[in-house]
Order: sequence, then structure tokens, then C-alpha cells
Amino acid sequence: MYEFIKKLVKSIVPTSFIRKNDKLLRRFVSLSYRGNAYECNICNFTMTKFIVLSNGNKLCPKCGSLPRTRQLWQLIEPTIAGKDILQFSPSKSLSDRIANSNPKSYVTTDYEDEFEADKKHDIQAIDELDNSFDIVICYHVLEHIPDDRKAMSELYRILRPHGSCYIQTPFKDGDIYEDNNINTPEGRLAHFGQEDHLRIYSVAGLKSRLEENGFKVEVKEYLETEDNRLGQRETEIILIATK
Ligand SMILES: [Zn+2]
Repeated sequence: MYEFIKKLVKSIVPTSFIRKNDKLLRRFVSLSYRGNAYECNICNFTMTKFIVLSNGNKLCPKCGSLPRTRQLWQLIEPTIAGKDILQFSPSKSLSDRIANSNPKSYVTTDYEDEFEADKKHDIQAIDELDNSFDIVICYHVLEHIPDDRKAMSELYRILRPHGSCYIQTPFKDGDIYEDNNINTPEGRLAHFGQEDHLRIYSVAGLKSRLEENGFKVEVKEYLETEDNRLGQRETEIILIATK
């Protein structure tokens, strides 16, 4: 129902208006969810329940955060202050929170103009100096990129020594599945799960590709807690690639 209404609103109302009034619209939606059973750690809203999307993901009615964003925030919150940060495809909920957590600098970038962002970097040729950032957030980006090895080497280049890149993509078991001959939206949807996905990584495959490009990689795996107060997914996997 939520997705249907959102789609409907998006088809009628200009994107610029939605972006400008997003907070107001969400505050209105969240009124009927007020309570104490669950909590969003990004906007601190407490609620009777999350909005459950058709894929099972629990969405915060107030800030629109997804489970993966709340899990990421739990991990990076203590590390933000005083750091130079670059975020690809910045969701509004998280970018507001990072901006208000005293980073030294914070740059957001989105190539497809899907999110409001400062820059429009091509991740295969990032227009930033070497060794510029302590933290890079690269969530659900690499599976869209034709030359993902070049993207990884660019991420490595712009990170400072000991800096970390937080990475997530959809995952499957086994090896990375990619095939350049599958190049239509229909084919990509059928084989890779989305019309604009060029591959599906496995955790081990992505880890080893990052390692080939110089990174040390730690795989963090989180399981849903019993009370699931933060609305986590059953399993959430984050790769921390460190220079
Ligand atoms: Zn929230």
C-alpha cells in the first residue's frame, strides 16, 4: 500500500516539490505510527511498527530509512566526528545525520541524479585528489558499474592510508555472476535481479576483487536481534575495505 501511494504521488507531483517538502510529508505519515515498540536509530522516532515493504524490508515512517542504512549507521556513528567523508548515492535520512555529526568535511555524490547530492562523480574516474577521505560510503553502487575493478582502484586512490570504504551490494552464494552478453533491461532483470544491475556479487567474490585492488577487507555479518527493535533484516552483510 505504501509503495503504491508513493508511486502515485511521484507520478503526479514534481520531484523538486517532493524533495523540498519530504520532511513535512513524512512527518504527516509518521503521525499514525507513534508508539514505543520500535525505534529508528537515525531519526530517533519511536513507533508502534515499521512500514513493511513488499520485499520485507522495514522502512522508518518518519525518515524513510531502510534496515541496511540503520545497520550502517550503528556501525559508523562513533567514527564520523572530525573525518573527511565521501558518500555515493546518499539517502536523505543518512546524509542529514552524518552532516549533523561533526564531520571535518562531508561530500555527497550521485551520478544518476536519483538522490540530492553535491557532486556527480563517475566512480570509474572520481574527480577528487589522491588520499582525500577517511571514510567512503559506497552502498548499492558497484553492481551498476561497467568497470567495477576501475571503480575499486579509484576508491582505493582517493582513500587515505588506514581509511575505510563501507560497501554493500545484493549478494548470492557461490561466485560472482556476470555476463557481458546479457545487456538488455529484461535480461538484466531476469539474470541479475534488476534492470540496471550488471552482475550479482557473492560476498567472497566481492571481497577477493577488492583485495586484488589493494584493499584489506573485513566482512561484518549482523543477524536480526530477538526484539528487532531497530527493524533489522534477518542477515545484514557489510564489507569494510581498508587502505
Ligand atoms: Zn527514522
